[in-house]
Amino acid sequence: MAASSPDGGKPVLRFAPSPNGRLHLGHALSALTNQCFTAKHGGRLLLRIEDIDKERCRPEFEQAIHDNLAWLGIRFDGALRRQSEHFSDYAEAVARLRARGLVYPCFCSRQEVKRAVTAREAQSGQPWPADPDGAPLYPGTCRDLDEDDARRRVAAGGAHVLRLAMDRALAATGEAPGYVVFDEDGQQRTVIADPARWGDVVLARKDVPTSYHLSVVVDDALQGVSHVVRGRDLEAATDIHVVLQRLLGLPTPLYHFHPLLLNEGGDKLAKSRGSESLADLRARGVTAAEIRKRLGFA
Ligand code: GLU
Repeated sequence: MAASSPDGGKPVLRFAPSPNGRLHLGHALSALTNQCFTAKHGGRLLLRIEDIDKERCRPEFEQAIHDNLAWLGIRFDGALRRQSEHFSDYAEAVARLRARGLVYPCFCSRQEVKRAVTAREAQSGQPWPADPDGAPLYPGTCRDLDEDDARRRVAAGGAHVLRLAMDRALAATGEAPGYVVFDEDGQQRTVIADPARWGDVVLARKDVPTSYHLSVVVDDALQGVSHVVRGRDLEAATDIHVVLQRLLGLPTPLYHFHPLLLNEGGDKLAKSRGSESLADLRARGVTAAEIRKRLGFA
């Protein structure tokens, strides 16, 4: 890890949990890795609450995040940033991309995407490509809709997402975007991103004027984050973040991807898989010191 941020100041890191469930050991590993890097390099550690999903995020989950992190002995610097309070920042960023013709409204439901993909597969006899998370690439149904038509449908209240036209976005950035990855020993290497493998990603969802990808990019820049430390499950998505940073004229932080904790079945720990929460461990009498030790931070 570089001793300082690109602007010569102290490194700024962030831990960015979503309050859509209880934190588990995987979150503790991520938060402690951030804390460890921050302490080692005399940086600042920020807390960001990624609560754009109004359906799934709940105040009691956020409260539990604060309680769990304090219990683990993790302190944060600076003001907390709660994404749900900054929708206008994200809307402004997406409007800038839209004004450059890089974003288009898409009216397809999930079922329609599925049907279009099945039709393409039947036509070609080949499996339709999937993105790194395993979801089928968007087949482009709405990419070239007549603009007036699309505007009329939006004005009439037609439910839609906003997608990045990836081919136009990559043509606009001009070169294959690269970024720097650092490891525990401070070694750095440049990685060339491959955003095309994600296709036309959603930048603004139907219900909120943003998405995980857009808000994370806008916020890392607004918060002056110089070093992003997060799990390997987000390594591939960094390709999208780097292209958005280029398009929006934002700096690209340095990145470190820590290994993931797996359950006995070999799957990563997840709220949706019912992985044991930190609160449950604590209720069973496990101490914060034991957790730190178990995760290698004694
Ligand atoms: N909010 C994301 C999560 O809980 C992490 C975001 C990030 O590190 O970029 O998985």
